[in-house]
Amino acid sequence: MSRRLTGFTPSGDLHLGNYIGAIAPIIAKQAVTDTVVFISDLHSLTLEHDPAEVRRRTLEFATILLAAGADPEAALFLVQSHVPEHTELHYLLECATGYGEAQRMIQFKEKSGRQNQVRMSLLTYPILMAADILLYDTDEVPVGEDQSQHVELARDVAQRFNTRYGPTFTVPRAVNPPVAARIMDLASPGDKMSKSAPSAAGVLRLLDEPDVLRRKVMRAVTDTDSVVIYDPERKPGVSNLLAILAACTGDEPQRLAGRFDRYGELKEAVADAVVATLAPLRDRYLRLADDPRHVQAVLRAGADRARGLAGAKVRQAKAAIGLLPG
Ligand code: ATP
Ligand code: MG
Repeated sequence: MSRRLTGFTPSGDLHLGNYIGAIAPIIAKQAVTDTVVFISDLHSLTLEHDPAEVRRRTLEFATILLAAGADPEAALFLVQSHVPEHTELHYLLECATGYGEAQRMIQFKEKSGRQNQVRMSLLTYPILMAADILLYDTDEVPVGEDQSQHVELARDVAQRFNTRYGPTFTVPRAVNPPVAARIMDLASPGDKMSKSAPSAAGVLRLLDEPDVLRRKVMRAVTDTDSVVIYDPERKPGVSNLLAILAACTGDEPQRLAGRFDRYGELKEAVADAVVATLAPLRDRYLRLADDPRHVQAVLRAGADRARGLAGAKVRQAKAAIGLLPG
């Protein structure tokens, strides 16, 4: 069975795009696919951060994933920093990665260009991501365009390590989600819905109250004519609403388009479908959040299970690269 791995970096608020593009597919496949889900708390330290905020978000993200239906029995479910093998393997992989290779990462260039103080970890972050992936013999990493280059790097490093030091790692591949699974910002449908969006007006946050969700949908940007058709190029706002409705109801955006004559009707239907999808999740979240100790116990158990696999992989990598077994 092939293994899939998805990480969530605890910065910003999880939103409907994360749910449709990443969380729902995990839940749908966890019984039939070998699944690793983790909160990548170490990755949130690569940019300016508030310690209390990272801690709070880590627990919040874990609780949301459980509320959404992540099953810690079926999937490996963990917080990255609870499994020290991630950072241990990171170092070994740094020794198999070129400085130039890391510097070439587009995301590093973009993010470092916007700051005065660039953390060393921002440069080496794709190598930590390679460690996250290779540690569990991952076959598939579902990622958007922005992360494909990092998965490529993980492939290169795995292949190089295997060639130089003997077969050690499974070589992973990126799997891109379908375009329809990319949810756009309701207020600016040219941009993808994102945790780091400058404004929350067009972002349907998983923990938004139902009436807030409804208001955001009703204010979504459409266009000046009033024809409901699915055409993401020419009608990004309307098409995004149709894509959201389709994802929430398990239908096709093209087919749904024929059912509406006016934007108002479409928006009402989208608002109902979004609330029907997210309100139960929010209720389950609030119940689970009442008992953080339970969530922490789940995370401890997940880390223990993960360390079984991760420890063996790190021992293998250490021996291959030339370290004397202790
Ligand atoms: P950031 O702005 O910090 O990059 P993000 O909203 O893009 O945040 P990530 O943590 O980068 O969230 O991604 C988590 C998962 O959610 C990834 O699998 C990513 O592909 C998916 N995802 C993120 N945004 C969307 C979106 N708008 N539509 C569909 N899937 C998305
Ligand atoms: Mg992103």
